[in-house]
Amino acid sequence: MSTTYEEATRCPKCEKPGSVRKKTTVRKGRRTVEQHLVYCETELCPWFNTAWIIQVNEDGSIPEAYSQVGPKQYPKLSPESETRVQEAMEAQLAAETRPGGEVRNPRG
Ligand SMILES: [Zn+2]
Repeated sequence: MSTTYEEATRCPKCEKPGSVRKKTTVRKGRRTVEQHLVYCETELCPWFNTAWIIQVNEDGSIPEAYSQVGPKQYPKLSPESETRVQEAMEAQLAAETRPGGEVRNPRG
C-alpha cells in the first residue's frame, strides 16, 4: 500500500494540508530519494509548527510506512513543549534542592 503526495503532506494530527518548507535529496545506496520537510500551519493543532518528513522515491511514489515513522525518527519540539520541559526541569530542581527533599545517592 502506498500513499499519495497530497495525502502525505496532510498533518497526521489535524489532517489539514501542511506547508513544504524544505526539500533535500538523500542518496540511499544506488538510489536517490527526496525528503520533504512539512510543517503544520494550523494554529489550533497540537502539531502547529511541528515538522514531519515525507520520502519521495525516484518514481514519485511515497512509502507510507516512512511517512508514519517520520515524526518519531525526527522529533521536533514546539516552543510550547520546550517551555513545558523547561518548567518541569525547574520544578524537579527546586524539589531536589529544597531542604529535606534531596535525592539519595544510590551508592551512598
Ligand atoms: Zn496539524
